[in-house]
Amino acid sequence: MIGKSNAIPKGAVDRRRVNSVRTGIVVVLTAVVLIFFVIWYRAWPQRWDCFKEAQRVAVAVEEYRARNNSFPPLLSTLSIKNGRYNYDHFEYCLTGLGGPADPPAGTLIAYCQETHQPLLGTPWRHILIFSKHHIAINWLAEKEFKKLHTQQLPAYP
Ligand SMILES: [Zn+2]
Repeated sequence: MIGKSNAIPKGAVDRRRVNSVRTGIVVVLTAVVLIFFVIWYRAWPQRWDCFKEAQRVAVAVEEYRARNNSFPPLLSTLSIKNGRYNYDHFEYCLTGLGGPADPPAGTLIAYCQETHQPLLGTPWRHILIFSKHHIAINWLAEKEFKKLHTQQLPAYP
């Protein structure tokens, strides 16, 4: 009789078990959502920061082009503010050559030297491309970039 008064009713044990399973599911789901959020959040600023540096490079090259009526032979001679990425994050296609001030539309000016590889989603790069008398910045999936880059390679006889 004494032991029975302290015993937990069977219904209460079942309810506790159901509650702990529910709590476990909520904790696991919250953790999964947080992990996906962190992955997304890390990938987004990377794209934004790379774009901002691409813009700085494009502006500096355009200023040089306006002053000298040609493309600069090196990016290192320009004054480009660095952020998370430096100007050398970009491969400059006219290194050592400079080039005429008004190349044909579609001429590749620069691109991310290395592919950005997000944990989720497709690998990508930014490109600086000459279009309608100015430099445009485009975002390209790696596959499209490879195709464009192959087209730009000079044809040797
Ligand atoms: Zn980049």
